[in-house]
Amino acid sequence: MLAGGQSLITIMKLRLATPNALIDINGITELSYIREENGAIAIGALTRHDQLSRDRIIQEKLPLLAEAANVIADQQVRNRGTIGGSLAHADPTADLPTACMALNASIITRSENGSRSVASSDFFRDFFTTALKQDEIIQEVRIPIPPPRSGGAYAKLAKGHNDFALVAVAVQTSLASGDVCNAISVVLGGVGSTPTHAPETEKLLMGQVIDDRLIRQASLKAAEGLTPNPDFRATTELKLKIIRTLTEKTLRTAVSRARGGN
Ligand SMILES: Cc1cc2nc3c(=O)[nH]c(=O)nc-3n(C[C@H](O)[C@H](O)[C@H](O)COP(=O)(O)OP(=O)(O)OC[C@H]3O[C@@H](n4cnc5c(N)ncnc54)[C@H](O)[C@@H]3O)c2cc1C
Repeated sequence: MLAGGQSLITIMKLRLATPNALIDINGITELSYIREENGAIAIGALTRHDQLSRDRIIQEKLPLLAEAANVIADQQVRNRGTIGGSLAHADPTADLPTACMALNASIITRSENGSRSVASSDFFRDFFTTALKQDEIIQEVRIPIPPPRSGGAYAKLAKGHNDFALVAVAVQTSLASGDVCNAISVVLGGVGSTPTHAPETEKLLMGQVIDDRLIRQASLKAAEGLTPNPDFRATTELKLKIIRTLTEKTLRTAVSRARGGN
């Protein structure tokens, strides 16, 4: 299936995929939309990265998603690439899978037998592997609108400007009165075969009054239990350091936004 072609054409050129037939879905313009309905933001599968990064509803209600879309590659890739293609391709270093998981998105699939909703935490199964069945396509991504006093942020470190992530961190949080954290999602990208929650960080923050000291303490826990593979860009130790530093930075921004700042 051809959406933006930004991943598929590359893997076909490398002969990693040699499909017998290709269905171009770009003509199904009904699959390109961003709208608010029933307490959620519904995003059609053919919505381009550029649309996501510039949309006012997304910028206001889901700033972390706008930020993630805005750091994908360059303008040419963002003009063509689609959210459906990015999630279906399931590259663990890609930006939108990590962002969607932190936002507790549901992936709505469609086949001739009907549609179903798959939680993003169940959707990504392994490197480039998802819960999509052979006869299904992604129709929509549905993200619950965060309550008041919520904040989200996304940051990645890459080798080159807007390259695939060496490490990425997506944070979404909500604060009750007295700055007590009553919802927290910290998701790491680029550190395993799928986007991965940082459970020790989340555990430490949940139900606690958020202050600088706690943010620092919780960030130090982000890499616990992880041993990211070394590669030509960084050793395992360096990646662990980056996870902690980037988590602290992203948590601070998300909390500041939940308090009404920037
Ligand atoms: C130079 C370059 C740099 C890039 N850098 C980044 C980056 O920094 N961060 C990042 O996140 N991404 C990056 N990308 C990938 C880019 O975001 C792609 O757009 C995205 O991964 C795939 O989206 P697409 O619409 O182009 O999908 P396609 O390439 O058209 O399709 C990809 C796969 O998804 C399937 N598919 C497509 N749409 C659907 C659907 N609706 N339902 C079911 N299956 C579907 C196709 O069958 C195919 O298997 C980069 C790409 C390039 C070329």
